[in-house]
Amino acid sequence: MKGLMMDSQLTVTSIMEFAERQFPDSEIVSVTKDNSLHRFTYKDAFLRVRKLANALIDYGIKRSDRIATLAWNDYRHLEIYYAVGCSGFICHTINPRLFEEQIEYIVNHAEDRILFLDPDFISLAESIQNRVACIEKFVVLTDDEHMPTTTLRGAESYESFIANTRSTISWPELNETDACSLCYTSGTTGNPKGVLYSHRSIVLHSYGAALPDGMNISIRDVVMPIVPMFHVNAWNLPYTAAMVGAKMVFPGAKMGDGATLHSLIEKEEVTFSAGVPTVWLGLLKFLSESGSNVPSLQRVVVGGSACPLSIMDEFRDKYAVEVHHAWGMTETGPLGALNSLKPGMEQLEKAELDSIRQLQGRPIYGVSIKIVNDNGEELPWDGKSVGEFRVRGPWISSGYFKDSGGVYGSHDEDGWFATGDVGTMDANGYMRITDRTKDVIKSGGEWISSIDIENVAVGHPGVAEAAVIGVRHAKWGERPLLLIVRSGKTAIEKLDMLGWLEGKIAKWWMPDGVEFVDEISHTATGKISKKDLRVQFAEYQFS
Ligand code: ADP
Repeated sequence: MKGLMMDSQLTVTSIMEFAERQFPDSEIVSVTKDNSLHRFTYKDAFLRVRKLANALIDYGIKRSDRIATLAWNDYRHLEIYYAVGCSGFICHTINPRLFEEQIEYIVNHAEDRILFLDPDFISLAESIQNRVACIEKFVVLTDDEHMPTTTLRGAESYESFIANTRSTISWPELNETDACSLCYTSGTTGNPKGVLYSHRSIVLHSYGAALPDGMNISIRDVVMPIVPMFHVNAWNLPYTAAMVGAKMVFPGAKMGDGATLHSLIEKEEVTFSAGVPTVWLGLLKFLSESGSNVPSLQRVVVGGSACPLSIMDEFRDKYAVEVHHAWGMTETGPLGALNSLKPGMEQLEKAELDSIRQLQGRPIYGVSIKIVNDNGEELPWDGKSVGEFRVRGPWISSGYFKDSGGVYGSHDEDGWFATGDVGTMDANGYMRITDRTKDVIKSGGEWISSIDIENVAVGHPGVAEAAVIGVRHAKWGERPLLLIVRSGKTAIEKLDMLGWLEGKIAKWWMPDGVEFVDEISHTATGKISKKDLRVQFAEYQFS
């Protein structure tokens, strides 16, 4: 027997309509190239969303057509999110840090028709425009006054594009399973793969993320996403915040600039933020050098790569900010797990508590997790058995756009998504990632966790950044090589580093080599690029 409840569709349109009615006065503050502090309300934003939707319809955009963005976190990008999704079109956010060839590939693969771009990306777009014939029109995210001269096809300023359109619309009835947005993973193996989010996946993810043991977001929060809107919908914060009516603060191109972040936090009284570990390093450096503080900031979620304990400690001990470690992927919506303590854990001994804080966290309801061995057999949650994580749930991808699947990210016969991440689950249900399958270091048949070594290494004040890779070894197959970027705060040499690691990691994990480098290369999503490092140190000989 079917339940007798309404079959209302879970669409982004419903978030917008609710937010508009309930929280018309909630603010949206942005840094843009043409305005160092733009401020308006949800009501203003959603009015312009209608104008943009009408402009797209008048232009001739049809259901499921892809509209691309190359843009920072700001209010115009937010308007595009809603106008495109609520019209039944698909918002394809492009990571501007990808190589030109990759951008070209994904634009052609997605068959984007219009590209909305920040003025910062004009020369990038100009250089690829002849190789992306599917793009009919380039709309620059500014007004006519600030419109740069450009050779881009059909170039027009955003403000002019929406200027003469109607601000009323009758939104189409969408099915919750319709596609809403598209984001390609950076393709550490093979070509980038398109993850196609549905309205339903975004709505359910946003509900899940707002839970108290998730990101715990309410109308009392001021939310500043530092995670880019071109990467997994800024972890859906533009939807979660709207769902609860929170004020939103967008740092524009200044995401990596500690001084701007600090000034926004201070002026706008930001309470919550989220981003990858590297952005926090910039903010913490600024705070420590300038002697400033962030009294309004209560919580930050750090994910996308392992968050070193040193970042968590500095936030907590110096600035009274709670750090929640989180795990996710483009394919998992992205939120898969988030670290919040279970009752009683606060009372644990420091060392035990610290080791819990570093775990990637517990899955939030909606995400089922299991770990499996090489034969796909499920392993126990004992904190010791190491295997690959597989996940399942309503905001986990079930396949790639146009079947752009690759070696990683396949699904098993029961429909579980194989994450390519390796680690353990403990009896309390906390996940711990030790590596990605392709980064795993196997020494004499045993796995060494590069993440654990890196975390301990960056705890040394003389270390700004650390990466561990496996290098060929005649006897053991592979041994760890530790690469370090010095912070300059204290002098550090190889022996200091080895002394620091001693007793903090297993003896046989001790790196056989320690090298100091000027910089470590990063991927387009700001993570250490182990692939590049492996190429760079392919011929490395341990002395
Ligand atoms: P990309 O491959 O482009 O970086 P994603 O942003 O989807 O794509 O990255 C997801 C991967 O990032 C995960 O599979 C995992 O390896 C890593 N990751 C995410 N969060 C964490 C975390 N908290 N700790 C360790 N690794 C993480």
